[in-house]
This record gives sequence, structure tokens and C-alpha cells, in this order.
Amino acid sequence: MKKKKALITGYRGQDGAYLSRFLLGKGYEVYGADRAGDSGQWRLRELGIERKVKEIALDLLEPTNIIDALEKIKPDEIYNFAAQSFVLVSFSQPVLTAEVNAVGVARLLEALRKAAPKARFFQASTAELFGSTGSAQKNETTDFYPKSPYAVSKLYAHWLTVNYRQAQHMYACNGILFNHESPLRGEEFVTRKIAASAARISKGLQQKVAVGNLDALRDWGYAKEYVEGMWLMLQQPRPDDYILATGETHSVREWIEASFAAAGIKLEWKGKGLAEKGRDARTGKVRVEVSKDFYRPADVKELVGDAAKARKVLGWAPRTRFRDLPALMVQAELARLEGKKVNL
Ligand code: NAP
Repeated sequence: MKKKKALITGYRGQDGAYLSRFLLGKGYEVYGADRAGDSGQWRLRELGIERKVKEIALDLLEPTNIIDALEKIKPDEIYNFAAQSFVLVSFSQPVLTAEVNAVGVARLLEALRKAAPKARFFQASTAELFGSTGSAQKNETTDFYPKSPYAVSKLYAHWLTVNYRQAQHMYACNGILFNHESPLRGEEFVTRKIAASAARISKGLQQKVAVGNLDALRDWGYAKEYVEGMWLMLQQPRPDDYILATGETHSVREWIEASFAAAGIKLEWKGKGLAEKGRDARTGKVRVEVSKDFYRPADVKELVGDAAKARKVLGWAPRTRFRDLPALMVQAELARLEGKKVNL
């Protein structure tokens, strides 16, 4: 039987790397598209799939290389992960963020319409679209109220994907993804930064870590499981949009406490606001500081998702919960520091 062809943009990022491995395991011919350079190559190396993905240099800023790639590959499925994905950076680079995350998706969908209109398209949409819509669980019918240039750019891409489905009759889906983490997360993201710092601090390799809003509440799942849900979205008789989430919400403070506990350090908090500090309860040493450098100009207070539709239609459910996730990431960091194989 002919192998299915999948094209993954941003394949050297966290989700791209996990999805590449997942699709290779399913017998797909996997084409990985990313900007020139080797940023993120370490993820493919750690997953042991470095030379198994067919690499394509593709920048979402450049229409000609998108159309060339699609005409050459004629993929059956395309997963768009390429993005300026860091919310804080979007406040200082709003135009670049819009060019990649919003107009980039217009370039991609339009090229797809011309070169491979039968291909099934997945767009990595985000829980950040909900912004400040209160604390209730969000589902596919909840209104959007984006609170960052990142979220606004992703809102355009979200609706454009819906529009190509309705107006051009293309198989195009949005996965409205709540936060998903893993040992392959970029170290600029708070969860991995904390996991890596807790591991290094426990080994005496680092003194402390600085973070932003300790009380932001998020719904954190395991990226390895989320890519399975994304694939399932493209295997249905009809295209649609789905939330992927765990339904649990926890604060950054809880993430820090759980990560340090996994590294053998019990923390005690003292002080308020920017003066608050997390100290090692045994030694009294400051291990966590709050810095305004990591505060967003406008933050989303709480995000929690209801993935009932994905459970019912796709048969997808998260298996890894908050009680295990920070520890899983700290164990991976400790393994890296000890030169051992990382469990991914
Ligand atoms: P990631 O690790 O930051 O990966 C993004 C990838 O996109 C990187 O390989 C990056 O390459 C690439 N990229 C950036 N600009 C590009 C451009 N102009 N052209 C082509 N490629 C470009 O993100 P992730 O965590 O895997 O997330 C995957 C997608 O899901 C993203 O679109 C993200 O916004 C979305 N999402 C993620 C989460 C989450 O919790 N992880 C939640 C909701 C939505 P460089 O390394 O060179 O920058």
C-alpha cells in the first residue's frame, strides 16, 4: 500500500518532533519543514529520528518556498506548527508575530488550495484565544477574547482555517490546544525553565531561578499525548475544531512547588508581589525570585478546558495529569545532567 505523506511545519519544535515520531511509527512518509538553521535539532536527536524525517527548508514568511514544497510533496496531511510561539515575545515583536502566525497561515492555506486542495490541514490553534473570558471551563462554543499579540495573530489563523473549510470546502481543522509540556519544551517556557532549574539547583549547578506571575492558572497536559489527538482530528469523516485539554487548572506556584519537590527540595514562600521569594525550607537559601521581566503586559488569569467533544468524537483523553507532569520533566532534566537516556 502507498505510504501516506505528511508535511509538518515547525517540525523541530516540541510538537513537531513528537508528531514526527508518532507518524513515522504509523508508517507515514514524514516531511519536516522548518526555517534554515538547526535550532531544535536536539529534539529529533533525543527522539532517535534525526535522519528519518525528510527535511525541507521552509519559512512561512516566504510564499514561493511554500508553494514549491506543496507542489513537490503533494502531502495527504499537513500539520501547521510553525509559529512565533512565545506569548511574551509577541508584545515586543507584534508585527513579526502577525506575519508568521496570521499571514503565514493565509500563505499556507492559499498555497494548499492551489497545489493540494484535497490535503487535510491541521492548524495549531490555542487556548490563549479565550483570554479574559472568565474562569469557567472553555469549550468549542466559548467566545474568544485574546489578550496578547500572539493570541490575536492566532485568532486570525483560527478563523481563516474555519473559512477555508466553509468557503473552499477544504478539510481544515483547528486544534484548540491548552498548554502542553514535555521534556522537549523550549527552555524559554516557564514549565521547562522551572524543571531544568530545579534539577540544576538540586545538583549545586545553579543558585536560583526568576519567574513572572506566580498565580497564573493553566491547564497543563503532556505534549506526547496531544499530538495523538491532533492526528485523530485529521482521520474523521468530516473536518471540525476540537479542544485538547486536561480539565484541571493549577498555578505556576504549584508547578514550582511540585518541580522542586521532585528534585528533593521543599520550598517555603515569604513576601508579597515582586518581593516574594521561595526558599529552601531546610537551608533557608533563596531558590525562586519574582521578576517583572517575566510579567506579560496583559496576562490571562486562568485557563481550563473541556475536552468532552474530543473524548466523544475522537476517543481522545489525556492520560498524564498534573500530579505526574512536573516530576516527569524534572526526572528528564536529571537524566540529561547525569548523561543518561531521557524518557520521552
Ligand atoms: P515551538 O516548540 O516553539 O515550535 C515552533 C516551531 O516553529 C519551531 O521549530 C520554530 O523554529 C518554527 N518557526 C518559527 N518561525 C517560523 C517561520 N517563520 N517559518 C517556519 N517555521 C518557523 O512550539 P510548540 O510548543 O511545538 O507548539 C506548536 C504549535 O502549537 C505552535 O504553533 C504553538 O503556537 C501552538 N500551541 C502550542 C501550545 C503549547 O502549549 N505548546 C499551546 C497552544 C498552541 P525556530 O526554532 O527556528 O524558531
